[in-house]
Amino acid sequence: MYCKHCGQQIDDNADICIHCGKFVSQEAIKRKQEEESITKKGWFLAIICWLVGIFGVHRFLVGKIGTGVLWVITGGCFGIGVIVDLIMILCSSFTDKDGNKIPFGV
Ligand SMILES: [Zn+2]
Repeated sequence: MYCKHCGQQIDDNADICIHCGKFVSQEAIKRKQEEESITKKGWFLAIICWLVGIFGVHRFLVGKIGTGVLWVITGGCFGIGVIVDLIMILCSSFTDKDGNKIPFGV
């Protein structure tokens, strides 16, 4: 795609133009923030984990696809993994795929 500020060609996934340094994709940034705002809330994950944790939904939400699939196959590590995850979420110790801790509070 092309930067709407300076007209130079830039990467399709770029958020910032490498030529003029301006934000090029407000839409993408906004979408990303909205996406993160709900999945990066511990209380939300706790509810999901409590309701459908054995399907690993809370793990998919934070981008942990690998263990999410494992949770689906094993029913949340036979229920143990779900309980561990729920405790971790309540303690704000649950991490996303990048290793960032997700705070429980709103
Ligand atoms: Zn530019």
